[in-house]
Amino acid sequence: MNYRHMETQAWQVLDRAHYLHPFTDHASLRQAGSRVAVRGEGVYVWDTEGDRIIDGLSGLGCVNIGYGRPELVKAAADQMQALSFCQSFFNTTHPSAVLLAEKLSQILPEGLNHVFFQSSGSEANETAVRAVRRYWDLAGKPERRVIIAREAAYHGSTHMAASLSGIPPMYGAGGDIPLPSVTHIKTAYQYRNGPGMDPEEFGILAASWLEERILEIGPDKVAAFFAEPAQSAGGALCPPMSYWPEIQRICKKYDILLVVDEVVCGFGRTGKWFGSFYYGIQPDIMQLGKGITSGYLPLSACILSDRVADLLIEEGGEWAHGFTYSGHPSCCAVALENIRIMEEENIVENAEKELIPYFRAKLETFVGHPLIGDVRSVGLMGGLEIVKNRVTREAYPYEAKIGYHCSGEALKRGLAFRANGDTMSLMPPLIITRQELDTVFEIAREALDATAVAFG
Ligand code: PLP
Repeated sequence: MNYRHMETQAWQVLDRAHYLHPFTDHASLRQAGSRVAVRGEGVYVWDTEGDRIIDGLSGLGCVNIGYGRPELVKAAADQMQALSFCQSFFNTTHPSAVLLAEKLSQILPEGLNHVFFQSSGSEANETAVRAVRRYWDLAGKPERRVIIAREAAYHGSTHMAASLSGIPPMYGAGGDIPLPSVTHIKTAYQYRNGPGMDPEEFGILAASWLEERILEIGPDKVAAFFAEPAQSAGGALCPPMSYWPEIQRICKKYDILLVVDEVVCGFGRTGKWFGSFYYGIQPDIMQLGKGITSGYLPLSACILSDRVADLLIEEGGEWAHGFTYSGHPSCCAVALENIRIMEEENIVENAEKELIPYFRAKLETFVGHPLIGDVRSVGLMGGLEIVKNRVTREAYPYEAKIGYHCSGEALKRGLAFRANGDTMSLMPPLIITRQELDTVFEIAREALDATAVAFG
């Protein structure tokens, strides 16, 4: 079957009949119908109508080097031809997993030298939780069970990862998540949690919420603190620079493992290779995903520091944990090639110098827009928070779904512009040009203006 010859409507009928989409209201999808994407190149995606969409989101924060790179296609195909699958369970290994683990240990913060692979960011967080549990058991402190995470966090959709996430609609009515061993603290969301404060003082205050919770629970019962360097799905929540050093100090003081979810921030999003470099974090465990392959194939990594791995390796015997696709050969080969391209083309350094100041300046032009209460960004991750009243910061009611309305207005005009709640988010590919950014912001403004009229 040649999909190009099928009408959009025919695709929509099939789509409705059988395909359950993630994070989707299927009743409204039935009415609206899906846009059917068929091709991507650079920062653009084309649909079956022949319309071109500029991808302001890098897919879902993953297509960091853009669509259609033939080198990645070749890396995957060559590996499939040579060795299409290899398990790593029974004293077996293969070159692309070994080389990727070595490469990661070279480019990550010092001391993060032991790499466990799986397929998704959610699974990387599951692995991290299992490693934390195993570590404290082996350290003779099994009573360290509680994991502290943050409100508005997103760590994935499996049972534990959803529990770590601080997004209440994910918990569902009467469900058993969040699991009782997880607790959430307020986050470094200055617009809502520290209005009017000096940002650096707010960073210290926000970090003190961690210490407060540790003391409430009892330090001997706390296992780990899980956090993203900057929160992406929470609506581009970027902490002040004082926040992370203070968090690090508190974790050290109470001997709590610091687990940093770099699934979005990793691979250049902040303008540094990892958010941990940007904010000066030294994690005990780190999760990577998405940008590790620029979204060409599914792969994630959970990296253990020497401190954690040494105990697991020396004392732990067999760690009964793993996945069929841990270290899948083609996924690892694509990740290696993706990193090679990023290094050879100085993609992160160029983004930092050439794009990020421009991106930030463009975002700042929305200060004063009648719908926008807050403008925030780190690197190429930006958020424009929609409010009903800019003076009182009153939000629109949840049911109004104003963010979704704005996304729809943008998509009609050819821009993928995401609503994270009422925050409109942009995370363009790191290879976008300034001219393409002009288009992104032009359409974003039109979409916000049209939304202001519709809700005015
Ligand atoms: N961690 C963070 C910070 C994320 O943003 C996401 C997904 O958006 C995940 C974990 C989950 O990754 P995946 O969707 O690959 O399971």
